[in-house]
Amino acid sequence: MQKSKNKPKKIYMDYASAAPMDVTVLKVVTEMMKKYFANPSSMHDLGVSAKKTLENARVKIASILAARPVEIIFTSGATESNNMAIRGVLEAVKKKDFIPHIVTTNIEHASVLEVCAFLEKQKLAEVTYVAVEKNGIVDAKKIKKAIQQNTVLVSIMYVNNEIGTIQPIQEIAKEIRHYKKQQKEATKYPLFHTDATQAINYLPITVEKLGVDLLSFNGSKIYGPKGVGALYVKKNTPIHQILYGGDQEFSLRPGTENVVGVLGLATALEITQKIKDKEIKRLNKLQEYFLSKLKSISGLIINGDTKNRIPNNLNITIPNIPSDLLVLELNARGIYLSEKSACKTGEHKNSHVIDAIRQTENSLSRNSLRFSMGRDTSKDDINYVLKALASVLEKLGKWYKD
Ligand code: PMP
Repeated sequence: MQKSKNKPKKIYMDYASAAPMDVTVLKVVTEMMKKYFANPSSMHDLGVSAKKTLENARVKIASILAARPVEIIFTSGATESNNMAIRGVLEAVKKKDFIPHIVTTNIEHASVLEVCAFLEKQKLAEVTYVAVEKNGIVDAKKIKKAIQQNTVLVSIMYVNNEIGTIQPIQEIAKEIRHYKKQQKEATKYPLFHTDATQAINYLPITVEKLGVDLLSFNGSKIYGPKGVGALYVKKNTPIHQILYGGDQEFSLRPGTENVVGVLGLATALEITQKIKDKEIKRLNKLQEYFLSKLKSISGLIINGDTKNRIPNNLNITIPNIPSDLLVLELNARGIYLSEKSACKTGEHKNSHVIDAIRQTENSLSRNSLRFSMGRDTSKDDINYVLKALASVLEKLGKWYKD
């Protein structure tokens, strides 16, 4: 990351938490910030030009997802997109004496799990949390088995944010289609939502092929601006607004549109797609190298499937050494990474993802470390991290042996 001879090296390995803004995106956003200050709903020329910019961005994003522009709803990020998908679908099926059911997994992001927990608590929904296998991947057949007569939504993340494992979205879509075909009467339910936030940089994202009705993502993981995201909502999907106000975003998401943020989101998405294949190849090689070196550290556990994972993620457990200590020791050596989801670091709780793949709640869940690489990561960086890790283990190892 920083190559000056005099300054200590700084290595960012936390791209899954937030990626730095791409220089082209940054340029577009800063230049346009001055130009597009007007409200896109205003009738004057400045408003019209802001509206045009917003709509052009919608067209670009829709074309990358192979969707229609009216199917793209801009939001403040993936948390809002996930909330809108789940609560919006539930609102649309609300009727007396009907408790809808949701199928999800036990490794979803907090912005899905916490919504589900709230809905259960309020008795607004029943939820089945299908347990993933030990490799961090859910069995599509188990999803189908969990579907009930009152299931209105299946929500499964495309890629897990902690361990980087890829969920079989197409297979799950197929199982859902199969379930629907088996019903006596034609039905739209269950709808299928995926949180694709961690998948956009590395996996196919054309919605028709994936077979999803709803798909969430944000700008911050794709080298775009923070505080902006989108929800793809397939045409004719029954969904209700969850926020009330103006009639922006096809009356689904009121509030003055974040024109510049959306423009940044579209630019970032375009760049991501352009360099995708090259980046996958480059990161695959780095991941393979990093993995082979990590495997040689005695006692170290690799969390999650080593094949079905995105190329920038490696998640490890070093038994007996608390990961917050490792994060701080590595931070002192100029290496920036996380233990688990940045959204849950405030709570001194186990990682629910590591608990899920260990299939037990044990102390090892507190020992996971997530290395997430990105566009600036080099082999030199990995060698530096390996050296630093060895020195930390040398320092802490003796204190934490049984
Ligand atoms: N889903 C996943 C899988 C994520 O990784 C994140 C970001 N940590 C979110 C949702 C929430 O995104 P945002 O911060 O844009 O609300």
